Amino acid sequence: MRILLIHSDYIKYETKSMTRIAEKIDDKKREGKFENSLVVFTAVEREDEKNTDRIVENAVASITEIFEKVGADNIVIYPYAHLSSSLSSPDTAKKILQDMEAQIDDLNIKVERVPFGWYKSFEVSCKGHPLSELSRTITAGPKVHEAPSEEKTSEFYILVEGELHNPEKFDYKSKDLKKLVMYELGKMESSGEEPPHVRLMREKSFADYESSADVGHLRWYPKGRLIRDLLSDYVYNLVTERGAMPVETPIMYDLADDAIRVHAEKFGERQYRMTNKKELMLRYACCFGAFRVLADSFFTWKNLPLSIYELSTYSFRLEKKGEVVGLKRLRGFTMPDLHTVCVDLGSAMDEFDNQISMCAQTGFDLNINYEVILRATADFFKDNKEWMFNAARKIGKPIILEILPERKHYWICKLDFAAIDYLGRPIENPTIQIDVESGERFGITYINQNEKELNPIIIHCSPTGSIERVICSLLEKTAIEIDEKPPMLPLWLSPTQVRLITIAERHIDFALGVAQDLRDENIRVDVDERHETVGKKIRDAGKEWVPYVVVIGDKELESGDLTVNVRENREKILMDVEELARIVNEKTDGMPFRQLPLPMKLSKRVHF
Ligand SMILES: [Zn+2]
Repeated sequence: MRILLIHSDYIKYETKSMTRIAEKIDDKKREGKFENSLVVFTAVEREDEKNTDRIVENAVASITEIFEKVGADNIVIYPYAHLSSSLSSPDTAKKILQDMEAQIDDLNIKVERVPFGWYKSFEVSCKGHPLSELSRTITAGPKVHEAPSEEKTSEFYILVEGELHNPEKFDYKSKDLKKLVMYELGKMESSGEEPPHVRLMREKSFADYESSADVGHLRWYPKGRLIRDLLSDYVYNLVTERGAMPVETPIMYDLADDAIRVHAEKFGERQYRMTNKKELMLRYACCFGAFRVLADSFFTWKNLPLSIYELSTYSFRLEKKGEVVGLKRLRGFTMPDLHTVCVDLGSAMDEFDNQISMCAQTGFDLNINYEVILRATADFFKDNKEWMFNAARKIGKPIILEILPERKHYWICKLDFAAIDYLGRPIENPTIQIDVESGERFGITYINQNEKELNPIIIHCSPTGSIERVICSLLEKTAIEIDEKPPMLPLWLSPTQVRLITIAERHIDFALGVAQDLRDENIRVDVDERHETVGKKIRDAGKEWVPYVVVIGDKELESGDLTVNVRENREKILMDVEELARIVNEKTDGMPFRQLPLPMKLSKRVHF
C-alpha cells in the first residue's frame, strides 16, 4: 500500500460521476469539507492482497502515529489509485479502506472516508510545515517502525590509546578528523556546491551522467572502465589471497520472501523497487545473494570462518534526487562485498580484527587517507570495552567512537572508514559490520563439534567501499593537493602510463617500436603522432595527467636514449627504454595490470 499524507488546513471534495467499480453511497457522502485534517491519499496494491489484516493494522499504526505528531483534528481517508501502478482488485481495496476506517474509529479518532470508485473534484490546502507532506509504503511486515518519538541519541567520543575524550573539546591534529566529527554531530551545513570530482570525471573522459537512464546512473568511457576494472582486480586479489571464494548472485529479489522483506525494510525508503507480476527489489548490496547461497550450502565448524565474495555490478539505492552527485552518491553503483561466516561472537571479533588490517591496507595501497569511526551498541561496548580499545589501536591514530543506546540495525559493532572530500564532507569507503540477526533470519546454519545445528554470526565487509567512491576519493584528493603537486592518479591506475610524442613524420616508426617494447613489458603506452605542435602535444599529455612523457626527435633516433619528463616531481631524466620499463614496473609492483583499452596512436582516438 502506498499512502501520501497531507496535513491540511482543509480538504473539500465533490463526487462527479460513478465508475463501474463505484461503491453505493448516501447523498450526504456526495460531498464533504473537513478542517485541520490529516488527509491520507491511499492506493491499495496487489501485494496487499496476501495479508489484508496485517496491511490494515500497519497502515493504521503508521497513520495514527503521524496524526498524533502533527496535531490534526481528524483523519480523512482518500482513495487515490494514482500512487501505484500495481493496484489490488477493487473489492480488496474497498474492504481494506473500510477496515482502516473502522479501526481508526475504534481508537476514538474522528475519521472520514471519501467514496471509492467515483470521479471527484477536490481541493486541499497543505499547511506546509516539515511534517505536512509525507509518503509511506505500507507492507505486511511484522511491525511498522517510523522514527520512535523519544529516540535516545548516540554518545560520541574521540578515542585515543584507550582514553575517551569529549569531541567538542578535543585538540585535533587532523583537519580531516575534525571535519568528520562535525559531520557526525550534524554540525556541518550543506554548501550545495558541486564537489570537484564531477568536473574531473567528465574532463578526463572517465564517466558522465546518462540522461536517458534514471538519475544517478552513469556511463563509463574506456579510461574510466579501465580504472574500474583495475580496482575490481585489486579487491579480487586482496580478498582471494585471504581465502575468500568469489560468487555471483542475482540483482533482484522477491519481496514475498519473508526474510528478504524484513531485511529490506530496514533500508526504508531507499529501496529501489520494480513491479511486474511480482514486487521485486533491486539489491542494495550483495547481502541477500550471499545469505541465500550460504543458507543452501552445507558446512561445519571446521570450515569456519568462511568468506564469500561478490563484486556487485550493480547495486541500487533510491537516493533522493537532490542528493545524487557524481561518483559519490549514485542510484546504481558497484560494491565489493565480502561476507564471512563465524562460529560465534568471539571468532567474529577475531575476524573483525583481521579485516581492520585488510581495510587499512587499502588506504595504504590507494594512497587515500581514511578517518575512522568505530560504532557499537551500549551493551556490546560494556561487555567488550578492552577489545574495542585494542581494535582502535590498530588504526594508529585518534578515531571517533559512537555508542548507540540500543540496537536499531542488524549489527552490534561496526567500523567505518571515510575519506574527506574537497568540500570537507566524508566519502564513506570501507566498512566492517558484525551481524547478529541474518544467520537466523535467513536460515543459515552450520554443524558444531557436538553435531548440533547452529546459526552463525556474519561479518559484512567492503574492503574499499564502492568502486565509484574509490575513484571519487582519488579525484577529490587531486583537487585538495593541487597547490602541492601536479594532479595525477596512482601510476598503476593511470590509463596512459607512458606517452611518446613525435616531432616529425620520420620519428613515428621509431616511436612505435619503443611503444611496442614497453607494451611487451606490460606498460600502458601510447604515441602522439598527430600533426600538431610539440607544445600542444605536451600540454595535452599534461591535461590527461600522463605520468611519463617522452619527446622523440632526431637525437633519440640516433642515440636510442630517451629524455623522460616525470610528472610527479617535474624532473627530466635521461634513460634508455629498459630503464624506463624497469622504473614503471617497480612502481606498480604487486598491483593489477590491464592493457591500454584505446588505440595506441592518438590520431585514431575518438573524442568521447
Ligand atoms: Zn552484507
